[in-house]
Amino acid sequence: MRAVQYLRVGHAPELVEVPVPEPGPGQVLLKVTAAGLCHSDIAVMGWPEEAFPYALPMTLGHEGVGTVAALGAGVTEVTEGEAVAVYGPWGCGRCHPCAEGRENCCPHAAGLGIVPPGLGRPGALAEYLLVDSPRHLVPLHGVDPVQAAPLTDAGLTPYHAIRRSLPKLRPGSTAVVIGVGGLGHLAVQLLRALTPTRVVALDTSEDKLQLAGKVGAHETLLSDGEASARIRQLTGGIGAEVVLDFVGAEATLAIAAASVAVAGDVTVVGLGGGTLPVGFGGGLPFEVSAAFPYWGSRTELMEVLGLARQGLVSSHVETFTLEQAPEAYARLHAGDITGRAVVLP
Ligand code: NAD
Ligand code: ZN
Repeated sequence: MRAVQYLRVGHAPELVEVPVPEPGPGQVLLKVTAAGLCHSDIAVMGWPEEAFPYALPMTLGHEGVGTVAALGAGVTEVTEGEAVAVYGPWGCGRCHPCAEGRENCCPHAAGLGIVPPGLGRPGALAEYLLVDSPRHLVPLHGVDPVQAAPLTDAGLTPYHAIRRSLPKLRPGSTAVVIGVGGLGHLAVQLLRALTPTRVVALDTSEDKLQLAGKVGAHETLLSDGEASARIRQLTGGIGAEVVLDFVGAEATLAIAAASVAVAGDVTVVGLGGGTLPVGFGGGLPFEVSAAFPYWGSRTELMEVLGLARQGLVSSHVETFTLEQAPEAYARLHAGDITGRAVVLP
């Protein structure tokens, strides 16, 4: 089968031919119908050789949707032909967080060598994807696969990030979304669907700000040196109750710290490598709570798919073939994708 692999550190991913995997006991083979490209893949492909944690070559793609193609021995929970989304942050499946479906918080996964598909083991940018357990599969129940693929990360991650702040997103509050890319454009929609908050979206690109407005942001601002002053102005000097940073660079974290209200939340989702100083003199107002969330839980994925089914969130996508995936990554790297790039193998 064809697969898009990261072969050598520092080199662009390539389309290669690899064997179709066979499901062992307990495993499920999916025929991939859609796979999203995430900026985290760009981050991973930017890591230096000495710090690279995964074995190469590695099939990319951690946002996967497919139909069940074959069942390993003993699998009875899913049936052939069923359309499913892959829940990506796999855990040990036995500990307390895993029992709650919060496998993204499994404390044993790293020690057991359990890594997500596309982030250490073969991912969804291929014709077929091997999934270790039917537990990782969430039925689509009618959601279009192209819509659903981005929801498994670009939807799930902001949903999980926003949920912690729901009590602060009351009427009259303001939420700031920094970076309106794959995750950010879904964050804007999730904030609108779940809360009455006023949404202020920031980006460095006019195209992305245009999309932000189209998907429901009340205000759009260029992410520059003036942004935090504008947010203060918009909020009568108080600042935003919640700031979600989908970039995580030094410059955006400075905006987040200067824009958040007393007792607000700063949630850093982006892997931009900046740091947020916490403590007296660090620049954050008193009572601010900061978080660095990772992906989301399986039940949260069910909920995000539920929102899509109701038409309350939709992924803005540009589609590509597997052959075009390397070019799509290059465009994502250059900031030249609006919404999410989705590959249809
Ligand atoms: P993306 O490339 O689709 O979007 C990034 C957006 O940020 C773009 O619209 C870009 O124009 C904008 N941007 C860049 N610099 C900016 C700045 N200084 N100010 C404002 N906007 C700026 O990326 P994505 O796939 O949406 O991922 C966003 C981030 O989230 C990445 O860092 C990714 O690695 C990370 N991520 C984290 C998790 C997690 O679990 N914590 C999960 C998925 C992705
Ligand atoms: Zn991702």
